[in-house]
Amino acid sequence: MASMARRAQLFSHHPAAAAAVAVTPSVFLKCLSTPSGFSHRLSLRRCGRGGRSPAPRLLCSSSSDRAQQEAKAGSSQSIVGDLLDYLNESWTQFHATAEAKRQLLASGFHLLNENEEWDVKPGGRYFFTRNMSCLVAFAVGQKYSPGSGFHIIGAHTDSPCLKLKPLSASTKSGYLMVNVQTYGGGLWYTWFDRDLSVAGRVILKTGDGDFMHKLVKVKRPLLRVPTLAIHLDRLLLSFSVSSLVNVLIESVGINESLRTVNTEGFKPNLENHLIPFLATKPDERTKKTEEKSILSITPKNAHHPLLLQVLSEELGCSEDEIVSLELNICDTQPSCLGGGNNEFIFSGRLDNLASSYCAIRALMDSCSSDTDLANEHSIRMVALFDNEEVGSDSVQGAGAPTMFQAMRRIVDCLSKGQRSENIFERAIRESFLVSADMAHGAHPNFPDKHEDHHRPELQKGLVIKHNANQRYATNSITAFLFKEVANIHNLPTQEFVVRNDMGCGSTIGPILASGVGIRTVDCGIAQLSMHRRVVMHDFLDLVTSEFDIILITPCSVREICGKEDVDIAYKHFKAFFQSFSSIDKKLKVDY
Ligand SMILES: [Zn+2]
Repeated sequence: MASMARRAQLFSHHPAAAAAVAVTPSVFLKCLSTPSGFSHRLSLRRCGRGGRSPAPRLLCSSSSDRAQQEAKAGSSQSIVGDLLDYLNESWTQFHATAEAKRQLLASGFHLLNENEEWDVKPGGRYFFTRNMSCLVAFAVGQKYSPGSGFHIIGAHTDSPCLKLKPLSASTKSGYLMVNVQTYGGGLWYTWFDRDLSVAGRVILKTGDGDFMHKLVKVKRPLLRVPTLAIHLDRLLLSFSVSSLVNVLIESVGINESLRTVNTEGFKPNLENHLIPFLATKPDERTKKTEEKSILSITPKNAHHPLLLQVLSEELGCSEDEIVSLELNICDTQPSCLGGGNNEFIFSGRLDNLASSYCAIRALMDSCSSDTDLANEHSIRMVALFDNEEVGSDSVQGAGAPTMFQAMRRIVDCLSKGQRSENIFERAIRESFLVSADMAHGAHPNFPDKHEDHHRPELQKGLVIKHNANQRYATNSITAFLFKEVANIHNLPTQEFVVRNDMGCGSTIGPILASGVGIRTVDCGIAQLSMHRRVVMHDFLDLVTSEFDIILITPCSVREICGKEDVDIAYKHFKAFFQSFSSIDKKLKVDY
């Protein structure tokens, strides 16, 4: 988590805000409330509620698999089968956004574009995407009046993964290697010996000279990072001599008999040992591209021709048409149910696509009929951001004022022609954000890692996250109000606070709470297979405050959460949209 000064930096993208030296959230709000920074060209695409005609499904799983998963998921009230489909479709942040877009369109939401003028009306349902990795969707209550607030659920679309380097092609010992960089805090040893592939986006050159943005996913296992055989992973035998002697022995060479099998755990070097290979067949075309001096980097001289061939076959285009690409390395194993009672979800990317899907689904289902918004005064919103795993500092991350600007534009649209004092600032103060991100479930084999009285369990409901040092944005008021939603609907909740002798992770909650000035609660579904690790945010932050060391929550390539918790989270989020207006007005604090 960055300091306030850093947050001000993050929210200083707007020209007016950038002019302020010390930008406080309130100053920033004023800066952004000036209408001069935005264009007003009209081109709202109208889908109408008849837009429910099914868009083409993009699912990986076969229909029989799907039926089986649905049967295992239990009652028709469960969304778990649909979540499994979403996870299997959403190998990357781009696919997660595209699939959410497809479902919103099928549910009758109107697609907006940030570059164009909006025409937002009470009772309407809308969304837009940014970079095809960030998405904001919202539904306006029919009884909206100027100053009404936003009820928002925020989550993130990205997950730790490996990404292709700009120049990915190399050869080693007869193998075609695909060079990668690490993204976020993955538990990288879990990426070894997995059936990996690639997915992401490409830019294609079309016949008429234009360019086309297209997503791609190669579903078959394509890449592999093998572990080293344990008998080759050897350490020096432990001598009862000084470490200096050991160093000397190392420097003059050593007989293999003096080494023993490494029992200290697998500790790969992330630059040298985490490189997937694609093939063994020597690729003459790769040799030629390595030999010739490169004046301009293109996919053809940056990546293995064999990889481009696989991509072009997947895309149905020629290799020459691929003029740029951005690919993640992905695990091909489908998400599924597991456990003796099929009570678990085994999957990659649960953090945070489980929250993202529950939020989008809750929004769609909370306004699926024409009457659902009839008595609503507020605006229901879901905001999904990219780059949470690396600190949110990007144009598509929560550090950008995407959500804030959308809120201001919506208020502007809805209050056209009405004169009222500081409508937008009043709306912000009426608003409430649920920051949803996965939570640390208590591990049965490591019981001492949780504080004795705050031990979130799987299948026991959403975890409300607290931290006195504001790693989480929850306070007593926001926790109470969000739990009151659960109480009214007979849904369980749990509490989490980290041990005082351990570092605490963070989420987009504090970023948005401090940047927008919105009441916020941090919560999440308990999961296993992620842990905490300290990273330095940047040097400036490090020297300015002890709190500027952030903690990220690296995840395994394969995570676990409880099936019940998914349905509870969905119901809690849906209930939040449906009943928060009436709950919120019962408690006044600043009066
Ligand atoms: Zn997360």
